[in-house]
Formats: sequence, C-alpha cells, structure tokens
Amino acid sequence: TWGRVREELIKRVGRNNYVTWIEPLKLNGLKNGVAQFEVPTSFFGTWVSRNFSDHIRAQFNQAGEPVERVEFSVASVAAGLRPATQGAAANGTRVAEPSGQRPASRPRSADDDLPGAQLDARFTFDSFVVGKPNELAHAAARRVAEGGPVSFNPLFLYGGVGLGKTHLMHAIAHELMVRQPDLRVLYLSAEQFMYRFVQALRDRQMMDFKEMFRSVDVLMVDDVQFIAGKDSTQEEFFHTFNALVDQNKQIVISADRAPGEIKDLEDRIKSRLQCGLVVDLHPTDYELRLGILQQKAEYYRSQYRGLILSDGVLEFLAHRITTNVRVLEGALTRLFAFASLVGREITLELAQDCLADILRASDRKLTIEEIQRKVAEHYNVRLSDLIGPKRLRAIARPRQVAMYLSKQMTHRSLPEIGKRFGGRDHTTIMHGVRKIEELMATDSQLADDLQLLKRQLQG
Ligand code: ADP
Ligand code: MG
Repeated sequence: TWGRVREELIKRVGRNNYVTWIEPLKLNGLKNGVAQFEVPTSFFGTWVSRNFSDHIRAQFNQAGEPVERVEFSVASVAAGLRPATQGAAANGTRVAEPSGQRPASRPRSADDDLPGAQLDARFTFDSFVVGKPNELAHAAARRVAEGGPVSFNPLFLYGGVGLGKTHLMHAIAHELMVRQPDLRVLYLSAEQFMYRFVQALRDRQMMDFKEMFRSVDVLMVDDVQFIAGKDSTQEEFFHTFNALVDQNKQIVISADRAPGEIKDLEDRIKSRLQCGLVVDLHPTDYELRLGILQQKAEYYRSQYRGLILSDGVLEFLAHRITTNVRVLEGALTRLFAFASLVGREITLELAQDCLADILRASDRKLTIEEIQRKVAEHYNVRLSDLIGPKRLRAIARPRQVAMYLSKQMTHRSLPEIGKRFGGRDHTTIMHGVRKIEELMATDSQLADDLQLLKRQLQG
C-alpha cells in the first residue's frame, strides 16, 4: 500500500516536497489505524507531521487502508526509537499549492517550544538562487548555518524589500535544525520580539522572558528597523543581545538598511550591530532574476504538467520586472495559473496580457541622467559637453534631443530638467523641447533617431 500511497502523494504535494519530505520516510508499522514512520531527525518529524500527515492519512484511506493517526519517531543509534511527534499534533496546516498557503512550521528544538515565528518550508538554501548581488550574503549565511564556532557576531544582513533576507534567515534555521536537531534556534521578527516583551511586562513574566531569550543557541531577529524609536523594547533587545554575545551564541539580524542608517536607534545598539559582519543584499541584476525565474518555472512545470512555456517569456519578465523578487514570483505564479485555467501555451502575448498591470507598475523609472548618457552615446558626444555650456551645433542639437526626451519620458518639471542640464533656465529647456517637436515633423532622420532612442530607453 505504501508504494501506492507514495505515488499519489507525489501528485498531491508536488515533486519538490515529495523528494524532500516524503521519500525519506520509512514505514515501520501499520496497525490498528496507526501508521508509524521513522524519520531522520525530530525536526523532520515535526515538519512532516504538521504539513503532510493529513495527506498521508487521506491517501492511505483512499487506498483502502484505514489510518486514523500518523506517528513519527526518530531513529536513534543507541536507544532504539524515541518518539518525536504524534500525528495527532498535526492540525490542519496545509501543504503548499501554487495558489495556496505555504507550508509552515515552528522552529523548535527537540524538547521545548520556543516562541518562534513560522518558518516557510520553501525558504531553503536549495531554493535560493545565488548571483553577484547576493553572493556575499549567501556565503555568510551558509557559514552560520554550518553551526561551527562563532566567527562573526552578529551577522547583519540588510537590503531592500524582497531581496531575500527572510529567505536566507529561514534557510539558516532549516539547515541548523537538520544538522543539529538539539540546537535551540529561535527566529522571530523584531515586531514579535516587541510583542513578547510587552506581553511579558503586562503579565509580570519578565523573568521568564529573559530566561527564555537568554537560553537560545541561535537568535535570529528579522526586520530589526522595526524597534527604532521604541525605547524600552530597544533597551531589552540590547540586553538580550549582549547576554547572548557574552555566551558566544550566534545572532543573526536583518534590516532594510545598514545599522548606521537606522534612524532612532540608540548609538550603542548601532555600534553593537556593526561589530560582526555586515553584508548587504544588492538589488537584483538581470542574470539573477532570470535564474530565479528559471528555478520557479521548473517547479511550476512539475505542478502543471503539459503546460508549454515559449522561449523568451522568462527573459522578457526578467527584463521588465525589476522591482523585487516577490513581484517577479507573483507574476510567474499568476501566469502559470492563468495559462492552466485557459489551457493555453504561455507565450509572450499571453504574458503581456495577463500581467499588464504588473508590467505597467514596474516600468522602470527612467532618470534624466540615463537619458543624457544614452543620447551622448548615440550622437557620439561627451556627456560633459552635452550638459555643459558649449554652443556648437553638433552638441546643441543632441542636447535638445536629450531635453525633449527628458520632458517626454520622465515626470520631471522644466525647472527640474534645467537643473540637471547644468542649471539652465526652464525657458531654455522649453525652447529646446519645442525646437525638436518642430524639426521632427520634417526631419525624418531626427524622427528615426528619436524612435530608436525611445525604444532603447524603455528597455
Ligand atoms: P526580504 O525579506 O528581503 O524582503 P524575502 O526573503 O521575503 O525578502 O524574499 C521575497 C521573495 O523572493 C521570497 O519568496 C523569496 O523566496 C524570493 N527570493 C528572494 N531572493 C531569492 C533568491 N536569490 N532565490 C530564490 N528566491 C528568492
Ligand atoms: Mg523579510
């Protein structure tokens, strides 16, 4: 039966989940409505129990083998089997489906429940695509996840929204829990830290609070900028931080900017945060975006069998959606879901239709500077001349073209544009714009140039 059940499970949970979580399960016994599995670590048992035991049960029942409970025990070398998690503890956490909820689990050590945040099962090192913009952050996170002696403390990860900070922190937690199931790993957001703190104050449980936070082996606090300006929370955070560093426990922090740039954060905290390794996640580049899309597309192909993805679609998306990875992923999710609904091949046209709003929203904000560079390059003049005071016609015309495009393609006002053209008056800019408009009507070479430049600048 287990063989049949497994085959069904591949379809239910998807290949990735299957390979990671189901395949390693060893069925030890099946009687009296209880299916007993052996798992490699207690964390593994918790995970499967929370996320997949409903599916496992359902598939056994489908296959005509009544199962009411699924139990997991950890294979232990010396003492035989030690109970990890009872299937009964599994309460309705659902398995990720492309449009559905993500599987989640609480980080926990073998015996205790730490008040951690939910971890996303998909945020692992395996699913993290490494490129130039994030290779340092990734390497540092890997180092921490190896769980060796603490070599830098804290690890401070920072970067803009959707660049993978949370993903990396969850990946560290997963990896540590698989490698060292007994390690007390606590991951939570700064907001949750504050919430716990306030709650402890209110319930007069500060001793418990302090004891709990000081007893972890690895503390990870996400989005620490949140506690800026919150004085008593900062104070408590500072003490927790110091206590753990003194015990040589690893700390990982993330924020949306560098420690020194977080406003309303006490100086002593800033300098503490800077003591370890500070690494930033840079904005994605085209290669990284494409890599991420390729990985996701692979996953979706296994979910939606038979869907055809035309060449160039992923390249198109990587090119056009430059804001953040979350938006990029959302676009792909929608595209696959839509295509599977209407049963059509995913073509460039379909992508353009189905993602029109996302594409519009993420249209690059073109800068005057970019326009000037492009125009200078096109007409083969120096950028400094283009902006400078020279009145030679060979320069004045390209300059007017750049003014015209700046007016057309950005939302800048004439005075703002003037400022970026060496402090020219807005009437000069207006004159330049008018001149080009006038010439365009008769000068087909100029009209062509403008078309080409626009296309290039739109990317
Ligand atoms: P942040 O915490 O920096 O705002 P997240 O870690 O939440 O960003 O990432 C946003 C989304 O983008 C997540 O779904 C995450 O898996 C994905 N993501 C970001 N960077 C990468 C990457 N390098 N490889 C794969 N997925 C990524
Ligand atoms: Mg985050």
